[in-house]
Amino acid sequence: MFDSLSDRLGGVFDRLRGRGALTEADVRQAMREVRIALLEADVALPVARQFVEEATEKAVGQNVLRSVTPGQQVVKIVHDALVEMLGGTPGAGAPLEAELNLNVSPPAVVMMVGLQGSGKTTTTAKIAKRLAGKERKKVLMASLDVNRPAAQEQLATLGTQIEVQTLPIVAGQQPVDIARRALQAAKLQGFDVLMLDTAGRLHVDQALMDEMQAVADIARPQEILLVVDSLTGQDAVNVAQSFSAQVPLTGVVLTRMDGDARGGAALSMRAVTGKPIKFAGTGEKLDAIEPFHPERVAGRILGMGDVVSLVERAAEAIQQEDAERMAERLSKGHFDMNDLRGQLAQMRRMGGLGALAGMIPGMKKAQQAMANGAVDERILLRMDAMITSMTPKERTKPELINAKRKIRIAKGSGTTVQDVNKLLKMHQEMSTAMKRIKKMGGIKGMMAMLG
Ligand code: GDP
Ligand code: MG
Repeated sequence: MFDSLSDRLGGVFDRLRGRGALTEADVRQAMREVRIALLEADVALPVARQFVEEATEKAVGQNVLRSVTPGQQVVKIVHDALVEMLGGTPGAGAPLEAELNLNVSPPAVVMMVGLQGSGKTTTTAKIAKRLAGKERKKVLMASLDVNRPAAQEQLATLGTQIEVQTLPIVAGQQPVDIARRALQAAKLQGFDVLMLDTAGRLHVDQALMDEMQAVADIARPQEILLVVDSLTGQDAVNVAQSFSAQVPLTGVVLTRMDGDARGGAALSMRAVTGKPIKFAGTGEKLDAIEPFHPERVAGRILGMGDVVSLVERAAEAIQQEDAERMAERLSKGHFDMNDLRGQLAQMRRMGGLGALAGMIPGMKKAQQAMANGAVDERILLRMDAMITSMTPKERTKPELINAKRKIRIAKGSGTTVQDVNKLLKMHQEMSTAMKRIKKMGGIKGMMAMLG
């Protein structure tokens, strides 16, 4: 098996643990690993390159959450970008566009195209079975494959298995004629859906493309689905480009998702055709098909196991904890050095976005400077060191800190008395702000004030 991406990123990011925002250098380093993971998952090179470029832009400057590593954070950002690119919404399940659009006066024609052996005939039967069963449609299938001996019989056999009618075989007819006859039969006999299974080739060639175009002109399909083996690697871009240049594709079906494929073809297909991936084939049996699930495929491409949910949980936990702690403090109108330390830690973690930071003039400047990258976190760490040098009593009652104590604290933290004075002033300002907040009606008032 492959190394998971998060394992590989673990090494890259160990030294970065606990930093604030992701810098461009950090992200680029992680993206090198992401790019390798994409290529190993069979994403075509130009697609991988473009994706990494876009994901890098998204990731730079994002804040690293507590209790996950920057590497994990990058994986989550990449995962969400993948899900979106695959047509999904992170956290939202299979997209609605995965449904077939058969909303026309019947018969709705569905045409299957693709290379030989990609799974067109099998998928034709799978979709017919779904439509006939769950959706109670009256479905007719017709094979236009006159190249491969017994191709039409193959579809007829599948039709018998799933109890879906197939167009009677007439020897010697050309694909265009079969299409015409199928359309007529479907109209006359009141079928809801006509599924056209076409011939493939081992490689894309012009004769095949001309034939498909002629059939599409006659049958005017509502859906033209490109069937692609998910093991298709670098060739996926070629296949997608040739087919979408010749016929107006409406969607893609990825087959053999039950195998070893990491699903990179999905990304290539989506990037090149711009069309939704509607179904995934998951086995040889005729019910082994399901709506395409971007989240699952994104996870598979990255090979990252539980990282995404880990990061999501971490983000939720932080918001929850901070909100609760803050609520309690505010309800008492109380703000001591321990609270200030909490705020400083939050600022470090969130790249200057601590919830209270914006309220205090001095803090606001520091916050902006941090966001611009002008101040590094050493200043915040120095403040933290001063608080560490205080006794527990001094932390809860800062008014105890007299000149003598200031000297001790400065020595203990490797700072100056001037620094300690600045810290005390900052605390004083925040504490006053807290009391104002209490008067204004607690959290709700504060939220209104922060806008
Ligand atoms: P066509 O040449 O494009 O019509 O391909 P076929 O439908 O004849 O399929 C070729 C082979 O792939 C058959 O043996 C199918 O059973 C197999 N196949 C198709 N779809 C899947 C799938 O999703 N999973 C697996 N494991 N096999 C599949
Ligand atoms: Mg076939």
